[in-house]
Amino acid sequence: MKFQFLGTAAGEQYPGMWCRCENCRKARELRGRNIRKNSCAFIEPNILIDCPNEVFMQAERFGVDLVDLEYLFVTHSHEDHFNLFPIGWRYLDPRIKSPPPSNAVGSRFTELKKLHIVGNRLVCQMIEDLLIKKAGFRYEECALEVHLAEPFKKYSIGKVDFIPLKANHSENQAGVPPLNYIMFVKGRTILYALDTGWFFPETYEMIKQFKYDLVVVEGTFGYGADLEGHFNYSKLERAVKLFAKDGLLKDGSPFCASHLSPHFAPVHDELAPLLAGKGITAAYDGMKLEL
Ligand SMILES: [Zn+2]
Ligand SMILES: [Zn+2]
Ligand SMILES: [Zn+2]
Repeated sequence: MKFQFLGTAAGEQYPGMWCRCENCRKARELRGRNIRKNSCAFIEPNILIDCPNEVFMQAERFGVDLVDLEYLFVTHSHEDHFNLFPIGWRYLDPRIKSPPPSNAVGSRFTELKKLHIVGNRLVCQMIEDLLIKKAGFRYEECALEVHLAEPFKKYSIGKVDFIPLKANHSENQAGVPPLNYIMFVKGRTILYALDTGWFFPETYEMIKQFKYDLVVVEGTFGYGADLEGHFNYSKLERAVKLFAKDGLLKDGSPFCASHLSPHFAPVHDELAPLLAGKGITAAYDGMKLEL
């Protein structure tokens, strides 16, 4: 099974969109793996985790076809993880027949498989408010089904089983927990934990029930301070050691860091060997793993 990172940056991206600090300048010079766009990941053949603005550009860059997507797991409503712009273009006017007449206006003229979007209450509400109420579309016209996910319940949709986890992140202030996910796909078990501070006790209790083929944890604050709502590298090292002590990684399974910021960590070329020495794989945009 193939898992591919389509983006590995924190919100400001790498280089920061409006920044010319040393790391941002270096990334622009070196390019390659040093350029990161907002975090998201693709599991072949039809699963996407998070939907930032650049996801289709990134998919094209790495030769990934997202048209047949059937599952979108959204961690939370922050714009670097969920943007409805690409989703709205799924609309098919039911009055237009395919092939369309030459005067037909629309964004889609062919059939699509249904896309199941999984998210917390804020994500589901955004879709309802912007796509259905404001734009006036119907779910079936966008070939969409929305699934409200609550932490620690086990769900099955089609061939994908998953358990949402309660992430320790700022969206909690709105009374809606942001989500991380344990996913069970084709006999593989994946933990995807971006945009979270240190695991809540109940979250780690759930995490440690399983052994993983892949762990992806965030590293936003890098070598910076140990602040709320995100990991820095001392938290990441603590997590790697804890996972090893509790035997949570299957033999040879990678522990990856994603959601990386130019303002707390050097460019990828310098960062990757530093993290590798701690047992952490620095993910990069386009990185493909065979699980
Ligand atoms: Zn984020
Ligand atoms: Zn910068
Ligand atoms: Zn966030």
